[in-house]
Amino acid sequence: MVLSVVYLGLLLLSGLCRGQEFSYEGSLGESDREVRYSTFIDNDALRNEINLVFAGPSHWGDEYHTCIGKHQSPINIEEHNVKNVSLQPLRLIGIDNPCQSYVTNTGHTVMLKTNESKAAMLSGGPLENNIYVFEQLHFHWGQNDYEGSEDLINNHSFPMEMHAVFYKEDYKSMDEALKHEDGLAILAYLYEISPQPNPMYEPIVKLLPDIEAMGKGKVLQEPLLLETILVPDIANMQDYFTYNGSLTTPPCLEVATWIDFKDHQELSREQLSAFRDLRNPQGNKLTHNFRPVQPLEDRVVLHNIPQEHSTPSNISEDHHFDGHSGQRSVKVPILFVALGALVAIFLFAM
Ligand SMILES: [Zn+2]
Repeated sequence: MVLSVVYLGLLLLSGLCRGQEFSYEGSLGESDREVRYSTFIDNDALRNEINLVFAGPSHWGDEYHTCIGKHQSPINIEEHNVKNVSLQPLRLIGIDNPCQSYVTNTGHTVMLKTNESKAAMLSGGPLENNIYVFEQLHFHWGQNDYEGSEDLINNHSFPMEMHAVFYKEDYKSMDEALKHEDGLAILAYLYEISPQPNPMYEPIVKLLPDIEAMGKGKVLQEPLLLETILVPDIANMQDYFTYNGSLTTPPCLEVATWIDFKDHQELSREQLSAFRDLRNPQGNKLTHNFRPVQPLEDRVVLHNIPQEHSTPSNISEDHHFDGHSGQRSVKVPILFVALGALVAIFLFAM
């Protein structure tokens, strides 16, 4: 009891819960928290703050009712249960200018924003001809190399996931976009461990020790070319899953078109572990910041099959989904050649 009071005192003295309205820690339900703390705390506001700090993802819905919606993210994507489609090409525009970037420890993640009047834009694919403007990118990770991603693929989790968040240009701002079901488009990148550090992430990883405390931020030493992070391999850019979902943090608004690339990015163990040294709102190490998967409900996940870069003849175009007809078509020219040869032999013999 005494220890609890001291701990709560420290928690509040540090002012760390202020403005941080959810946690990845703790799994106490509302009734458990009431029993433990209410007996000796008679200040309503204080009790509410404590409730929020100790309520992990399974209790976000207690405070934020939108977190118990039917189209929540993340999800487990079962590859045998997706619908294959061929959408128009996904396009990223304005990502080839180096731009000054600012990296912040929000207490829940590492967030990168660019200081660019001409923002990067996203269009095409499931977004059709609508334009989405780059707002920020951030990361999710786990306490070991076997978990950390938010979406799972065939129940497999990855050690890290990056989200690049874009808002619909028509809505003019992020705040306004959050009020509309087509407000956001989020690109999701999954990571795996590689023996070598990934040089593209070194500038970000290097400054993590400088922003260890929540609220700290720093400008990247060199201007960042968003292209290197957002399009690491253009050949794989059209191979992705897409579905409608939500923000993966409270208030979990169902406003996002998710685009999850199939291709995996690489980070070394050391690069990844640098993220786990950052501090959360309570001043503890932010060892994990992923939300568990949510039910798919009535949604269908689409898998975009990249269209062939060039179609050498009408045959492959006409019979794109029909291997048998393709084979038959190939035989036709052979028949012609054989017939031609027979005619030639016949003429020669005469
Ligand atoms: Zn995220």
